[in-house]
Amino acid sequence: MIAKKTLIKNPLIVSNVPSVGNKKGTVLVEGQTITDVFYHQENLLKDLESHADEIIDAENMVLIPGMVNSHYHSYTNLLKGTVNNLPLEIWALYTMAYGYALEDEDIYYAVLLGCIEMMKAGVTSCVDHFPHIWTSEAALKAYDQAGMRVAFAPMLHDVPDEQFFQIAFPPSIQKQRPKKTATSIEEMKSFYQSIISIWHQKDGRISIQLGPNAPQRCSEHILQLCKELSEKGNLRIHTHLLETKAQYQQCQKNFPGGLVRHLDRLGLLNEKISCVHAVWLDDEEIQLLVDRNVSIVHNPASNLLLGSGIAPIPSFWKKGANVALGTDGSNCGTIHNLFEAMRLTAMIHRPQESNYSNWMTPEAVFNMATTSGAKVLGMERELGRIASGQKADFVLLKTKNTFWAPLNDPMSQLVHQENGSSVDSVLVNGQWTLRQGTTVTIDEEKVFLEVRKRREGLLEKWQEPLKRAERLRPHFETILLDYHLT
Ligand SMILES: [Zn+2]
Repeated sequence: MIAKKTLIKNPLIVSNVPSVGNKKGTVLVEGQTITDVFYHQENLLKDLESHADEIIDAENMVLIPGMVNSHYHSYTNLLKGTVNNLPLEIWALYTMAYGYALEDEDIYYAVLLGCIEMMKAGVTSCVDHFPHIWTSEAALKAYDQAGMRVAFAPMLHDVPDEQFFQIAFPPSIQKQRPKKTATSIEEMKSFYQSIISIWHQKDGRISIQLGPNAPQRCSEHILQLCKELSEKGNLRIHTHLLETKAQYQQCQKNFPGGLVRHLDRLGLLNEKISCVHAVWLDDEEIQLLVDRNVSIVHNPASNLLLGSGIAPIPSFWKKGANVALGTDGSNCGTIHNLFEAMRLTAMIHRPQESNYSNWMTPEAVFNMATTSGAKVLGMERELGRIASGQKADFVLLKTKNTFWAPLNDPMSQLVHQENGSSVDSVLVNGQWTLRQGTTVTIDEEKVFLEVRKRREGLLEKWQEPLKRAERLRPHFETILLDYHLT
């Protein structure tokens, strides 16, 4: 089959290739790949125009590499506005209660809803850290339809927070554990083997990663399983890491030398793992993660809303770590928009650093949203830049608006002005998913209607799990009080 040829004429190209920089040019896409990027070659342009199947005149537009949302939970798209004034350990009781009531169809529409939101904000790839593994097929079918690039990371865990924090519940509460939470090692193994055989590397767009929820929520057996499957199938691993002070202090008690050293002893720290949040770490732990080439995923909005803290991102960055950006959940304060994550990242760390020569530049922050995210996906060689041979994932932004008038410095304006509303068109893996602000692959009206329709049923299904969360809450409040006093 002859690949379709698409020519994007005359946008200002933000190439992410330092030797090229940002300048006006033309991009040729053949099939799933960018096959040529050229600047000021009128004859070549004329020749290609006569052979192209589709020509887009992108004069007065900015073309950027598609952004990677390197940490995200699709199920939370149905949980907007539920709980938003609680710290992580108590918030988690509620998000679990809401989440465990969701079924296949709920998840299917939650995924599509997130894809609409992300594509409209110029996000072409995401890492979906996915707790409700029994609905994985529904989620993956939605990604298949939406045309987004996804690294799907089904969660593994077998140590509930009450066990980790050594909270003793009265027997009446223990009997009411939600169903479907515990699965044996063997079941987890066969689940992963099955999902990998069907979905991993599908169309070069969908991949599977191992998704331990957080190391302290996993027994050593589960973490060993992750290591085994990662080595056998060359799979990447994605996990939350030390998000709160309470987790950090409890880990110091539970694991000799703390959680990072625990992971290192188990042989899990290497270039294939991405660790999310990494807020509470000592200097030696930061250095160990850097030495082991671990990727760090920064989620500034989530860390702020849950009061978790300010992650030591400048330290990671200065030491040369791969730092990517994520939005986390809709119910922890975020919209799935990396322009917001970039702006926060560029600004929130500055007050802690009096030496302004150490402040992160717009280029550094934009790289976090693009090339560093590509590395989290395991695609650093083929994604994140506008250059020949790269996967055709990019975004066209309109410039006839206040963010871009005048256009002085595209990188600075992308990070400090743009909010995503200029996104006009999005191409993923060589296919248009958004054209002139409208999704091509998803019937938006149907998704909004279905989400509205399903809400009534969910309110009913949420009642029992929420009552349980309310019963658990005082036990967690007591233990967290101790941490706030120290
Ligand atoms: Zn998360």
